[in-house]
Amino acid sequence: MKEVGFIMNVLISACLLGVNCRYSGNGILIKDAETLKEKYHLVPVCPEIFGGMSTPREPAEQRNGKVFSKSGEDVTAYFEKGAQEVLKLAKFYDCKYAILKERSPSCGHGKVYDGTFSGTIIEGDGVLADILGKNGIEVFGESQLNYLVGLNFHNDIH
Ligand code: SF4
Repeated sequence: MKEVGFIMNVLISACLLGVNCRYSGNGILIKDAETLKEKYHLVPVCPEIFGGMSTPREPAEQRNGKVFSKSGEDVTAYFEKGAQEVLKLAKFYDCKYAILKERSPSCGHGKVYDGTFSGTIIEGDGVLADILGKNGIEVFGESQLNYLVGLNFHNDIH
């Protein structure tokens, strides 16, 4: 018999469900997507699209508290608007957790590229991960999914 009970709403980067919204025009369907879908109500979001950017688009990286495209355009306003739109949904759905694409200038949590477009990674959060964290939403990257997949709904999360 199917277990009946409260199922948490969890934000997820839409590209991790295979949506082709990445700057390159691709998505990445993570192998645990079906399992996550059974355990949680997933709320797919893409802050860069919500902020008004197109797909495909130039890659962007953070530098000195702003976000720049590879050709040097300051795209910070798009990133900040998109993050605010996602925060709106996070509050509407009362999300306490988010699964976000690692190293993205929007979604990256803990590690991001350093703004030189050289592949160098530094400590830091993307614009969305930062805003979610400041609003009490815990962020996981796709390499941490074993933890979320192994949880028993909300009861194991503190
Ligand atoms: Fe994926 Fe986030 Fe980039 Fe959108 S902004 S493509 S959800 S990593």
